[in-house]
Amino acid sequence: MRPEIGEYHYDWLISGTLDAASRFPMGSPKETDSAYRYVPYFKGILKSFVDTGPPGIQFLGLLARYYENILSAKKTGKNIVGTTFCSNPSIYYVMDMVPATFEILTAIGAMVWKRGMFDYMDFCCELGMPETSCSAQRGALGTQLAGLAESADILICDTPGVCDTNANAFAFASAYLEKPYFQLNYPSTLGDRRSQQYHLDDYQAMIRFIEDHTGKTLDYDRLAGHIREIDRQDALTAEMEDMLLLKPTPIPPIFTLMIYAGRFCFSGHPEYTKLLEIMVETARERMKAGVPGLRSGKEKLRVVMCYIDHYTVDMNFYHYFEERGIALTGSILTRNFRDGNRYVADMPDSAYHIDTSSPAAMLDTIAQMNARMPMVRSIRGPYDRPGMWLSETLACARMYQADCVIYNGTPGCRNTWGMVKPFARDLEKNGYPVHIMYDDGFDDRVESWSATRERLDEFFHVRGLL
Ligand code: SF4
Repeated sequence: MRPEIGEYHYDWLISGTLDAASRFPMGSPKETDSAYRYVPYFKGILKSFVDTGPPGIQFLGLLARYYENILSAKKTGKNIVGTTFCSNPSIYYVMDMVPATFEILTAIGAMVWKRGMFDYMDFCCELGMPETSCSAQRGALGTQLAGLAESADILICDTPGVCDTNANAFAFASAYLEKPYFQLNYPSTLGDRRSQQYHLDDYQAMIRFIEDHTGKTLDYDRLAGHIREIDRQDALTAEMEDMLLLKPTPIPPIFTLMIYAGRFCFSGHPEYTKLLEIMVETARERMKAGVPGLRSGKEKLRVVMCYIDHYTVDMNFYHYFEERGIALTGSILTRNFRDGNRYVADMPDSAYHIDTSSPAAMLDTIAQMNARMPMVRSIRGPYDRPGMWLSETLACARMYQADCVIYNGTPGCRNTWGMVKPFARDLEKNGYPVHIMYDDGFDDRVESWSATRERLDEFFHVRGLL
């Protein structure tokens, strides 16, 4: 790592930036506009959220709060849990911990800093992690391993068997930082009696692990409150899913990111409910006024991202869809798989339901919900088994009337790279042109954003879509 990088405490730096950004639009629109000239470095990212209106501004505040929590954890006597995006964070809030989700923190850095998270990613490799491991963890993890971020007190992941590169990153962190580590294991099937029971037993073991290492016990009244909040959040999300069905949809591309990033940061927390309420209200107004989500006003094409998005600086990926008149109907990360959602109609085992009638019912609810987070839900088994990656992607592509499907991941994503070609062929057989992006969603050094954009343009042109 370059010595100058070690001069900055990363969490402090980014927290200060996000906090200032969330206050930026507090003046009149004219004042906000004139103020951009004083923040040339951050103008792109700031403008992306400010131009999104109240939902974008609320989202900036949510990210600032996420960092604030991490920075104040020690002062408030809370433990920080280093965790992954496929782990629902509500249990950590219920048990008085502060989640630091590596992939979210890496994505924020990638979108906000022009210099990216490269130094931190590389630092992990200097210490012995392979360069081919997933960049999504390596950015935020690098800041921790370098002692430039608030250190996690315990580590919890739920990816062994689903994504070993992810699980290894947590194992490495635990060994290097000498922190206690728990890994939930996921069998290759979902929804059958044995795997349902396995999830519940394993989840209870995780709660015992948290209790042992934090001295806190699970408060079921508090858990009930969080689950009821999730119920409300699911209803708001379902309303946006319905509006995504409309052609043209009143949902802007950037909303699909805000739906999942908000859930990964604050599921079950009123902070996320507030964001969803503002998003739904904005989308409803657009729908009533007949205003499409795309600023260009014309929806020429509809896309389903079958895996993750691209977190290049200044939100350029989302702007690209805006500029080309492409409606983004979401990715594997956007969907929550709550029962009753239309896309689960053919995949009932893939959905979770909510029951707060007893402690046992609540535990089962939260364990099954956790097992249905993105990636661990449908990339756990062979891609073409019922309820797995192919059937989920086809269900979404059909429902949202997608014109094509796009894959994006990271070079370290062995699980998806191992099956993406036959998966793409099967989607093509079902009538969906597929584009496989060869960049890294978090690391622009693998393929520059301008090259990625050019390849997307080429795909749309060659396949006669645009
Ligand atoms: S499945 Fe892919 S993107 Fe997800 S954590 Fe694993 S390597 Fe990273």
